[in-house]
Amino acid sequence: MDHTPKSNSPVLENFWMPFTANRQFKAAPRLLASADGMYYTDVDGNKVLDGTAGLWCCNAGHGRKKITQAVERQLSTLDFAPTFQMGHPIAFDFATKLAAISPGGPSAGLDRVFYTGSGSESVDTALKIAIAYQRAIGQGTRSRVIGREKGYHGVGFGGISVGGLVNNRRVFPQIPADHMRHTLDLDRNAFSKGLPAYGVELAEDLERLVQLHGAETIAAVIVEPMSGSAGVILPPKGYLERIRAIADKYGIVVIFDEVITGFGRLGTPFATDYFGVIPDLVTTAKGLTNGTIPMGAVFASRKVYDSLMAGPENAIELFHGYTYSGHPVACAAGIATLEIYKEEGLLTRAGELSSEWETALHSLKGLPHVVDIRNLGLVGAIELAPRNGAPGARAYDVFVDCFNKGLLVRVTGDIIALSPPLIVEKEQIGTIVSVIADALSRAA
Ligand code: PMP
Repeated sequence: MDHTPKSNSPVLENFWMPFTANRQFKAAPRLLASADGMYYTDVDGNKVLDGTAGLWCCNAGHGRKKITQAVERQLSTLDFAPTFQMGHPIAFDFATKLAAISPGGPSAGLDRVFYTGSGSESVDTALKIAIAYQRAIGQGTRSRVIGREKGYHGVGFGGISVGGLVNNRRVFPQIPADHMRHTLDLDRNAFSKGLPAYGVELAEDLERLVQLHGAETIAAVIVEPMSGSAGVILPPKGYLERIRAIADKYGIVVIFDEVITGFGRLGTPFATDYFGVIPDLVTTAKGLTNGTIPMGAVFASRKVYDSLMAGPENAIELFHGYTYSGHPVACAAGIATLEIYKEEGLLTRAGELSSEWETALHSLKGLPHVVDIRNLGLVGAIELAPRNGAPGARAYDVFVDCFNKGLLVRVTGDIIALSPPLIVEKEQIGTIVSVIADALSRAA
């Protein structure tokens, strides 16, 4: 297939692209024009297999008619209505439906839903809820938040403060935060399948930060149960349990950032279900609407919600919200998305495919440059040795090569990350692995 861009390129200079080397991209653009099922089609008519569910979000694949129709119907019925001191039924209906599959199941009580417009907004919302909750229960000195090195929690000021990817934070001011050590340990865990066996003791770093700052200053700890953007870093067995136990000991709110893991990525509705560890707040976005209409949601425990409801009835309990919180069109897309997930069993499908996926990915072990392979549910990472003096360059070349051969992967540093739509077929898993194998064999 010839993927060299030919004719149909728009003028590229005005769109300032996010998280992109604009000049490099604009010199050799990759432009997608349409999508259906597991495939994109680029502006020159070439098909590209989606190995990343868009940006970890199109869990039910592309072009889902049910979502299109729901959006069209909603737009022509109620295009917008406020949710500040007003409401509309569909926002409440969607929250009820989300509550029915809420993280951890009914006993976890994580069934109060605050809507946002994105993952970053979900993170900032959760951090603010945590701080407001601490204040509501008489812990007003707690305003520091703890994240992890290499954590990614979006790009709001809260999110970059608890986030631990240095490039995202170095030029911006931040709120008081600190960071636990990350859990990637290639010396002990390279090529382990599923959860790493070693490293549970890294959770003790939370205890160190409590001793350093004082529990009375710490409101919340936020972790991605499986960290995605840093290159699929999996928690060692027992790690999240230990974080929960230390947080309980010191009255710290636990937030799981499930923007990637929410809605079936690991083979359970949420990573909270997969790990059986119950946080107090869960952030989501992406798969919430199958990536179609921007939307996020924070699941809060009844305990947190009720504590904030304890004041006078006519007082606004949380001075926070977005014009688009509970946008009716996004809610319609979300309800249709949940129906598809249920009808097609997609919230558990990653579990059914995960051993096939694991075997396929680990068949790349031994190929040139590969220093680690990681997998869980329908997520995978192939970590490459950096090319001398040019971190990330080799993985970037592999990403471009794969695209030119009709496969979309994600590159982050020296890591190729994979998260295909949950409708992926077994032969397509085979294609993903063989295109990557070819690209690796060509990589300098
Ligand atoms: N949290 C996590 C764990 C994410 O992976 C992301 C996005 N990849 C975000 C937050 C931010 O989401 P958004 O880009 O929708 O703001």
